[in-house]
Amino acid sequence: MKIGIFGGTFNPIHYGHLRAAEEIAEKFLDEVIFIPTNITSNKNIDAEAHPQKRLEMIKIAIKDEQKFKTSDIEIKRGGLSYSYDTIIEFKKKYKNDDLYFIVGADAFLGLKNWKNAEAILKTIDFIVAGRPKYGFKNLVKLIDFLPDNLKENAECDLKEGKIVIDGKRAVYFFNTTRLDISSTVIRNNFKNNISNLFLLPNGVINYIINNKLYE
Ligand code: ATP
Ligand code: MG
Repeated sequence: MKIGIFGGTFNPIHYGHLRAAEEIAEKFLDEVIFIPTNITSNKNIDAEAHPQKRLEMIKIAIKDEQKFKTSDIEIKRGGLSYSYDTIIEFKKKYKNDDLYFIVGADAFLGLKNWKNAEAILKTIDFIVAGRPKYGFKNLVKLIDFLPDNLKENAECDLKEGKIVIDGKRAVYFFNTTRLDISSTVIRNNFKNNISNLFLLPNGVINYIINNKLYE
């Protein structure tokens, strides 16, 4: 099977995440596994809803969609969450499947600062989803955002819309619908009593209100 691993804080999950996953899955994957962080390493923890609650919101959002799954692997591991650890664990667990790591374009641009970025890119293929304000018209320029050691051996395959690293690993760029939705805006809307209708599933909105998550 072709399985996409979609990591993130998901504080909360919204239609930007869900629509990108839907379009990528339709073209490319059999399954997408949403993996909420326990503690996101590059974010302020004060603004973060409890990991179990972020996981619960994912469950609510994907409950009617068979090909979407979620995993508490990072929550169980505890502490700061690093994608590298998750990818290594998944590689062991899903030996006979093809794994892909899904990120939005903004996350891809920050990739070289991740823990073990180089090792990650040597271990798993990436799928990058579009995000407003982050174009990828010029694939050659995107090579600049790879860790330094990988740049030399990276090539663009313009026809396939991907960067190939060391002749084998790929970073695919998918021009998904760019929904200008972010969890930050949603959290601020809740704080300021501004409507969030149609930015995220109703079930998730109700869960947030009932649990007073972003007041
Ligand atoms: P925050 O505003 O709190 O950073 P966010 O909306 O960016 O939240 P994250 O949990 O940070 O959501 O993102 C998880 C992953 O989903 C990242 O790889 C990010 O690039 C991607 N992503 C988030 N929003 C979108 C969107 N609207 N379209 C496509 N990808 C997205
Ligand atoms: Mg973000």
